[in-house]
Amino acid sequence: MTAFQRHPATPERRIAVVGSGIGGMAAAWYLSSRHRVTLFEAGDRLGGHTATVDVELEGRHYAIDTGFIVFNDWTYPHFQRLLARLGVLTQPTEMSFSVHETARDFEYNGHTLASLFAQRRNLLRPSFYRLLRDILRFNREATRALESGDLDPTMTLGEWLEANGYGEAFQRRYLLPMGAAIWSGSLQELRDFPLQFFVRFFRNHGLLSVNDRPQWHTLVGGSRSYIPALAAPYAGRIRLSTPVRGIRRLANGVELRTESGVEHFDEVVLACHADQALALLEDPSPAEREILGALPYQDNEVVLHTDTRLLPRRRRAWASWNYRLDGRDEGQRISVTYPGCCTGSVRSPQMPGSVGIKGIWGGVWLFFDQVPVLRAHLPPPPCLFCAGDSTPRRYPGTSLLANIRKRSCSGYWLFNISRMVRVLRVMTAPIFSSFRRMVLTWAWAKAVRLR
Ligand SMILES: Cc1cc2nc3c(=O)[nH]c(=O)nc-3n(C[C@H](O)[C@H](O)[C@H](O)COP(=O)(O)OP(=O)(O)OC[C@H]3O[C@@H](n4cnc5c(N)ncnc54)[C@H](O)[C@@H]3O)c2cc1C
Repeated sequence: MTAFQRHPATPERRIAVVGSGIGGMAAAWYLSSRHRVTLFEAGDRLGGHTATVDVELEGRHYAIDTGFIVFNDWTYPHFQRLLARLGVLTQPTEMSFSVHETARDFEYNGHTLASLFAQRRNLLRPSFYRLLRDILRFNREATRALESGDLDPTMTLGEWLEANGYGEAFQRRYLLPMGAAIWSGSLQELRDFPLQFFVRFFRNHGLLSVNDRPQWHTLVGGSRSYIPALAAPYAGRIRLSTPVRGIRRLANGVELRTESGVEHFDEVVLACHADQALALLEDPSPAEREILGALPYQDNEVVLHTDTRLLPRRRRAWASWNYRLDGRDEGQRISVTYPGCCTGSVRSPQMPGSVGIKGIWGGVWLFFDQVPVLRAHLPPPPCLFCAGDSTPRRYPGTSLLANIRKRSCSGYWLFNISRMVRVLRVMTAPIFSSFRRMVLTWAWAKAVRLR
């Protein structure tokens, strides 16, 4: 469908789109070529998980992506086409990962041979060579089993790893942390992951190959740079800070309820999360209840900070994603720190990949509870910039941070440590992020580091 060209044969319909993430905005953009689209967004900005934050440090401006950051040239064909149509520029970047186990001073970065042995002691560790051997074996065997249809659909990843004798180091220091970071889970949750789904995802994203991998990209100017062009066709009918409260089906359309009243539309597109969509439906069908209710969500916490203590000790081991194994129970979610995806003018020659700029890092603590996050890891000012999560918590319990919230806007919140307010200017109220989707949404987060 071509935006801006109304098909003469199609009668114009009044369509409401609920949610301004990439799902809602893309739907609104395509539909507005033929129809009259109104977009409702609960937050006070467009973008949903596309959340670029403006930061000023030492007189320099940086645009930090605290939500959606990267895409690749294998699995995002529609998104790539859309960006091309909108004329949005992208830039290549690299994806590397590191693992650091704090209790044992063990770390590596899988990016190059040099970074693999960033910790020279690994050259002498037989267990490290077993880990590398298991990586190659897993890549080979999982690919073969997937292609030959030999993966038992009822099996979990953990069962398969045990049945095939994969070493503990490979499991705990490579595969499970990588998966746990992608899906914001714990190592135990990854062991319980459906095997077929896991292997297919890894294959589709080039994670089962050392050489044959997709090229990753970021958007020039930050992830938000597609928003103005995408919103242009329906810019006059965007309702920010307007949470939809309920939707009722009528014989001739739908009735949509907000705090300002009830409006009638011919169609509605629900581009919010499945549980939110289900809560909006006043008369969900059994199938809608079953399908939309089947997707569990959980909140993750995000801290924007400058504390390099959360990175590997050796600088050569710093990567785009840094998995921190700090001895916590396997049932707890792991911690990932990764560089703020900055689109400022400066790039760091020291960082692998082009996403990093010198001194700007992102970090995420994927704990279940905010209290341990902050008590155990809260870096003191000036390291900490802000912290937040994207939705009201969906489990009982009180939040330490509730006491220090400064602003909130329908689920997004942030706070600033007073001293840092002078150097950090957050232009948008909703800072970020995030929660996990069991299916394909991978949540993580980020932060900044001052060097
Ligand atoms: C921190 C983080 C980092 C990520 N990084 C990447 C990445 O690098 N690459 C990648 O491919 N994916 C990434 N993802 C996943 C990706 O960002 C999401 O899959 C995608 O952005 C989801 O888009 P969406 O439109 O479905 O939902 P969202 O972007 O979540 O948008 C939903 C919108 O609906 C609004 N809404 C909800 N209820 C209502 C209501 N009742 N009325 C009105 N509005 C409502 C919300 O406020 C929100 O703006 C990341 C996710 C997170 C959280």
